[in-house]
Amino acid sequence: MSAEPVAQPLVGFRRWGTRRGGLYSGIFVAGRFVPNPALAMAAPRAKPTPWPTGEDRVAKCFALRGHDAPHPSCNCGFSAYYALPAEPDLLAPEAIWGVIAAWGTIVEHERGFRAQFARTIALLDADNPLDHMKPGARAKAAAEAYEIPLLEREELIAYAGWHGELRATPA
Ligand SMILES: [Zn+2]
Repeated sequence: MSAEPVAQPLVGFRRWGTRRGGLYSGIFVAGRFVPNPALAMAAPRAKPTPWPTGEDRVAKCFALRGHDAPHPSCNCGFSAYYALPAEPDLLAPEAIWGVIAAWGTIVEHERGFRAQFARTIALLDADNPLDHMKPGARAKAAAEAYEIPLLEREELIAYAGWHGELRATPA
């Protein structure tokens, strides 16, 4: 594994948790969304910030001894899968999938990559079975806040391919 700069943007699929239109990195535990646990470990009082709207996001490492992100032997950087899973898991009401364009230094893995720079370019229009209150409303709010399209699966994959190198191998 190495960290190499790429010439043209890669595109990849990832999930976020969305709150009030903001997209947050994080994990899903027992049906709940936990924003940025790495930040919470490093700085318990720090407030997680949503991915910026209308600008690029630059990766940071929250490990004790910092380094430029992404680092080959860490898990920092913006991670995404090369392929959109056949059934993207929606593990909390806030869960949402989408596409990022990513560039700068890239660490490649078997099923995806971690990147230095990223921008969210579109979101997946999918029914979230856990979102009983207002299914679809959260995704719509995020798409509006980021001024990006909310697309169904096939459209999302095609849209991704127009914005960068799509390395997804057909399942
Ligand atoms: Zn790191």
